[in-house]
Amino acid sequence: WLLSGIALGVLVRDYTSLSQLEKQYFGFPGEILMRMLKLVILPLIVSSMITGVAALDSEVSGRIGLRAVVYYLSTTIIAVILGIVLVTTIKPGVSQSADNIERAGSTPNVSTVDTLLDLVRNMFPENLVQACFQQYKTQRKEIEPSKTNISTSNMTTFPPFTTIISTNLTKDYKIVGSYSDGINVLGLIVFCVTFGLVIGKMGERGRILLEFFDALNEATMRLVQIIMCYMPVGILFLIAAKIMEVDDWEIFRKMGLYMVTVLSGLAIHSVIFLPLIYFVFVRKNPFTFTLGMAQALLTALMISSSSATLPVTFRCAEENNRIDKRITRFVLPVGATINMDGTALYEAVASIFIAQLNNYDLDAGQIVTISITATVASIGAAGVPNAGLVTMVIVLTAVGLPASDVTLIVAVDWLLDRFRTMINVLGDAYGAGIVQKLSKRELERMDLISDVDAANPF
Ligand code: ASP
Repeated sequence: WLLSGIALGVLVRDYTSLSQLEKQYFGFPGEILMRMLKLVILPLIVSSMITGVAALDSEVSGRIGLRAVVYYLSTTIIAVILGIVLVTTIKPGVSQSADNIERAGSTPNVSTVDTLLDLVRNMFPENLVQACFQQYKTQRKEIEPSKTNISTSNMTTFPPFTTIISTNLTKDYKIVGSYSDGINVLGLIVFCVTFGLVIGKMGERGRILLEFFDALNEATMRLVQIIMCYMPVGILFLIAAKIMEVDDWEIFRKMGLYMVTVLSGLAIHSVIFLPLIYFVFVRKNPFTFTLGMAQALLTALMISSSSATLPVTFRCAEENNRIDKRITRFVLPVGATINMDGTALYEAVASIFIAQLNNYDLDAGQIVTISITATVASIGAAGVPNAGLVTMVIVLTAVGLPASDVTLIVAVDWLLDRFRTMINVLGDAYGAGIVQKLSKRELERMDLISDVDAANPF
């Protein structure tokens, strides 16, 4: 379908002369697919997290959660280090200068602290209904300089008047709360985990709620099954419309080495590192596992969003790779939100590439800063298209590179985004497989307890 989509896109572009509006109409079936996938994210996350947590006792879910987080962080750091090694060896930006690559548009003004604070703010939504469609995003507003940091040495005082002769002003900002469109997945996860724990402890009365969410989960998965039937058609048009839209293919030649660096990093991470880690812990063939996830990986490649791929990730993990639902329900939604190996690797490569373009020598301290901020930026990025590009601003500003230089790599991001999303999804799936293996004893003990309960209902 991918190839047919590309072929269709090239044919229609070359042999017809569609206007911008007609091109948009052409992509309509693809738009409908995205809408359907996005539609099921909300009931899926809510029902799977609540039932997933309620089914485990709090001690077990705490241990599973800890294992998942340790896996997420370590694989993300491995991805970042791999990216740094590759970009400093291949040096894709050294041969060209920033002037050869056009800059476009302006970039938002965010910092590491703002992103981290937003992450925590979003964990605690002030309104549950609003969290279903909006998330908090800090915006910095410049404060009128004349009222802020005026250095006193530049003032002459003639009482009772004060005249400012010359001013040496530093910019100051204040944070203005704002909301932007998009599900606040993190806030919902925190709420659902807590809610699930409470329900799990309520005994017989909690069971009614648990059954409700369990049924909701099953119904949602059936809806996903229906959407999957439409998937090939939607994907065909989604890709064809994208191919028709891209008019500057020349940019790929200019940015070739940069793209090769990112793509080879993603390939090494997904074909060597992740499978190796899986094999060490699970002792099963990792490539059979990857094959089981094929449909989810292709979906991620087509739609560039780990959140929207989540319904398919669930299906592949549970049905093809036989991962326990108690694990997937817990590990996959959290992974889709905070575990992004592909994004972290990309951010590390891209920021050092920009430094090379600007002939800016990074010292060891700055490289460490890039590793840390790239990890934070990938955690902070939402599972939606191009999110990594936006959070990359924090990596650039942390090492003193102009944030606006993110525009140098915008032109090829639509393509790289697809591949890094694919690796993000693969990382989540391997994580679920590893956590299941490590939690085997707890799961078996729970099975035993529920068997005893079933045998002695009174
Ligand atoms: N599109 C990516 C994802 O959904 C995030 C990114 O832009 O890196 O996982």
